[in-house]
Amino acid sequence: MTRKLRWRRVLVKLSGEALMGSQDFGIDPETVGRVAKEVAEAVSLGAQVGVVVGGGNIFRGVAVAAKGGNRVTGDHMGMLATVMNSLTLADALRRLGVPARVLSAVPVPSICETFTQRGAERYMEDGDVIVFAGGTGNPFFTTDSGAALRAAEMRCDAFLKGTSVDGVYSDDPKKVPDAERYETLTPGEMLGRDLKVMDATAVALARDNAIPVIVFSIRTPGALVDVMNGVGKYTVISD
Ligand code: UDP
Repeated sequence: MTRKLRWRRVLVKLSGEALMGSQDFGIDPETVGRVAKEVAEAVSLGAQVGVVVGGGNIFRGVAVAAKGGNRVTGDHMGMLATVMNSLTLADALRRLGVPARVLSAVPVPSICETFTQRGAERYMEDGDVIVFAGGTGNPFFTTDSGAALRAAEMRCDAFLKGTSVDGVYSDDPKKVPDAERYETLTPGEMLGRDLKVMDATAVALARDNAIPVIVFSIRTPGALVDVMNGVGKYTVISD
């Protein structure tokens, strides 16, 4: 049964670290299964869901550049890491009976489909979960920016950014116990206060397309469904 959701079509952004569990690196299958279950529950409420997964649990281009390597090559490797994460998440969704497709901005045709806006829109309307891989397909970008871009292209009602904390705080809540959690923020405040929750390009792209960014904790069981229903703890970034 379709209930009244606060947001119907959403783009969920998860950092690669969200798939890592308690490991220091890579993919923890149990954690992937739990994340997939959260997405499956959102789908069962009648939501149309696109997911962008980062690659930081495997590879980041800046890490190569910091050691004197070629940034572009490093970013290519980072984008391929997002393809690996996307494949595992889509598999976990399919195991739960949710139709899921990986569409990659970087063509790897023997492994998954290449992203096109029209194709993605059609699949989403059919109720498939789209896992957008490869970020923007270009070096010097992040998967946050890739997610904001896909949210705009897919005309999503909201960009749901899953992090390890339940919103945007005035300071790092893991280090400053009385840091204040914001219920709402404007993109201007977010950028002006230099709050490091997501990169400025992504914030600006979401703002320019009037897409609210919702920061929530992907580590809290049930939080994604709560956000979809407009309950629970999160921060809304919008004008
Ligand atoms: N990346 C890129 N272009 C993009 C998206 C990602 O070059 O459009 C590369 C970049 O090297 C980045 C890596 O892929 O460090 C992993 O993405 P990101 O750091 O955004 O992952 P997350 O922090 O969300 O896990």
